[in-house]
Amino acid sequence: MANFARAYGIGAALLALGAVGLGLALAPAESPFRESGVTRIVATTGIAADLVREIGGDQVEVIALMGPGIDPHSYKPRARDLIKMDQADLIVAHGLGLEGRMADVFAAQGGRAIILGDALDPATLKREEDEIDPHVWHDPVLWAQTARWLGKALAQQLPEHADEVKSRAERFALQAESLATEIRAELGKIPPARRRLITSHDAFQYFGARFEIQVDGIQGINTAAEASARQIRTLAEQVADEKIPAVFIETSTSDATARAVVSASQARGHRVKIGRALFADALGEPGTDAATWAGMIRANARSVKEALQ
Ligand SMILES: [Zn+2]
Repeated sequence: MANFARAYGIGAALLALGAVGLGLALAPAESPFRESGVTRIVATTGIAADLVREIGGDQVEVIALMGPGIDPHSYKPRARDLIKMDQADLIVAHGLGLEGRMADVFAAQGGRAIILGDALDPATLKREEDEIDPHVWHDPVLWAQTARWLGKALAQQLPEHADEVKSRAERFALQAESLATEIRAELGKIPPARRRLITSHDAFQYFGARFEIQVDGIQGINTAAEASARQIRTLAEQVADEKIPAVFIETSTSDATARAVVSASQARGHRVKIGRALFADALGEPGTDAATWAGMIRANARSVKEALQ
């Protein structure tokens, strides 16, 4: 696998980015991985890295390319990211268009790339016009399915630890499913008329479908799409007319459009507050409650309940 990487990985990845043409020199870098004798995995986001760590356990070392607060839709891989990918045995990405500027890089990785989006039946995926909505981790039941699938994929890569890997995946999936039940009960306490989640970009459709909350993103499912003045006005009218209590900002996107909706609805005489920042496409800082996927889902549910109930 490593030989394949040397042969095709970084050269192809850099070519895909046009970086070679920019005269980017590749210094013989020290390995970004610390451990030896384990499978070295680069995950794109902290969300993907958390899942790989949970399932791979001590048999893997995982590095995330994107930390807290980073927007994967617009993230452009740096030269150092390509070096990390080159040094890894496996690359784990969400796919489904989430890492929009990295698709060519994954394609150049051949069989080393595991795309988590492949875990799910395309019929279960939501679409906005002709774009697939990639934010499946906000539904713990879909994330449990993804975990079981990743367990099988990783077990193939680590045949000597296959049983351990699969049982960790199953344990994680069961915990995710019970988290869904717990959050459904909590959010079910919000009166139905107030179950409206308005956020900066449209990342919470799967969350809303699982927990029976109507979701509107001010921007579309991709942060590259800009919200028009008309969209902001229309949403502000809805917020004011339906007396929606809060509009939410996110940790990984600009809060400008959410604030515009808030001030436009206030101009219509409705006092609306800004909810706590939701974790849409990135985990929280290390050491905080939202530093893991499960902690992040809990933190989001808490913020939603607190602002809407
Ligand atoms: Zn997003």
